Amino acid sequence: MPAGAERETEAIHCLHFIGGQYVGSESGRVFDNVNPATERVIGTVAEGGKAEIDKAVEAARKAYDGGWKTSKFSERAAILRRMGDLILARQDELARLESLDTGKPLSLSASVDIPRAAGSYHYFANLISTMGTEAYPMEAGALNYVIRKPVGVAGLICPWNLPLLLLSAKLAPCLAMGNTVVVKPAEWTPLTATLLAEIGKEAGLPDGVLNIVHGYGGGSAGEALAEHPDVRLIAFTGESGTGRHIMRSAAGHLKRLSFELGGKNPNIVFADADLDAVVDTTVRSSFINQGEVCLCGSRIYVQSSIYAEFLERFAARTKEMTVGDPFQPDTRMGALISKEHYERVLDYIRLAAEEGGSIVAGGGRPQGIDTGYYVEPTIIAGLTASCRIVREEVFGPVVTVHAFESEEEVIEQANDTRYGLSASIWTRDMSRAFRVAERIEAGLTWVNTWFLRDPRTPYGGVKDSGIGRQGGMYSLDFYSDISTICMKY
Ligand code: NAD
Repeated sequence: MPAGAERETEAIHCLHFIGGQYVGSESGRVFDNVNPATERVIGTVAEGGKAEIDKAVEAARKAYDGGWKTSKFSERAAILRRMGDLILARQDELARLESLDTGKPLSLSASVDIPRAAGSYHYFANLISTMGTEAYPMEAGALNYVIRKPVGVAGLICPWNLPLLLLSAKLAPCLAMGNTVVVKPAEWTPLTATLLAEIGKEAGLPDGVLNIVHGYGGGSAGEALAEHPDVRLIAFTGESGTGRHIMRSAAGHLKRLSFELGGKNPNIVFADADLDAVVDTTVRSSFINQGEVCLCGSRIYVQSSIYAEFLERFAARTKEMTVGDPFQPDTRMGALISKEHYERVLDYIRLAAEEGGSIVAGGGRPQGIDTGYYVEPTIIAGLTASCRIVREEVFGPVVTVHAFESEEEVIEQANDTRYGLSASIWTRDMSRAFRVAERIEAGLTWVNTWFLRDPRTPYGGVKDSGIGRQGGMYSLDFYSDISTICMKY
């Protein structure tokens, strides 16, 4: 029995959730759900298509017109708070399911994914309970003011890397503003979304407000959702190429779009940086969640005077990482999401070696682990800016390291990408930090830290990394129709 298999317990069969009921597909079709850490089938997933999307949109439309769109803010806030509480109450169960589905360490699901997912419901419950509006008395007898209305039925199309966390970051503000929802979880990770439907019902969501349709993307459930004439907005997180498809599907009905897409994030280390802090954080920012986080730094630029020392210390720390069974408490890196992705990541490593890169740490399958989609945390040096692995998103535990001489040169290198999601800058010279941060083409730039963000600030990418901003009021703006009323009285 492969390590971690004892956590699989009973087979789990994921059904759609439409109009407040768990249902199978009209066609009766299902696909297997595989635990990437053991390669074992842990259950089945109903394979939805256009028929299920049509039913789910119809249920969402009815629930919207049937009262959710005019429900009180206070009622919605109370339901959201209960959803957050129930997620925390079932944290152990949800964390176990998330790790079974994704292959990520249980310690990570339990400390980050699930609590942060719960946090979204609490946060947006509080935000809608306290938010105000704009009102301008223009002159005697004239008032301009602003109101927010829900948009209608929303389609949320989700990725597999942080399944419940990223779904909740969209769902909480979407429900908060009075929209009803059809969710299409990633085909690789159906488990926590399926349980969330039950949690929503228990928290008091009326039937039809939250619907979940499982299935594939292109040519299937995802595309049917993006095309559906009654879906007014699509919030999507996933690859930039998929974003292009969805934009085309949504164009027919001019849907409102929020896109959180891929990244190839630079991590810039100047010679005056606190090297202990840089090494500590870079191990995390490179390999957390097997490198399957859109915000992971994947191109590390180090000023040449400290390049050798950085590389030696970074490689030593990387080689110490425990890779393996996600359910062991000391595991720092688990398995990649699927066989396809595992092979794709290994192909990139092979290609990097062919393009002249030298493997400084990792480079293949960890020794002694025969089953599961595991790849060692891998550091590659000696590549030029034109190499494919430096240009394309790998979305795995692989980083490239490059030496630079001057501030000007590193800004140019960091911006030499079609992506623009995030960046990190490490320096003790705060004038330089301001200067460089201003010129980096990214939606989110960290200085001397990583992954720290106040939920009120906007989040999103520039260039091919996304369209629009989420977070705090930015999310509420996206999930509402803002109307201006000018009244003469
Ligand atoms: P993906 O684009 O392959 O799939 C995402 C979702 O889209 C899945 O639910 C899939 O079924 C669906 N889909 C695929 N094709 C579709 C189509 N034609 N129409 C409608 N739906 C379709 O992405 P992924 O592999 O699940 O996730 C990894 C990617 O997500 C990486 O590129 C990563 O950088 C990105 N990501 C970005 C952010 C961010 O905030 N910017 C966060 C997490 C992940």
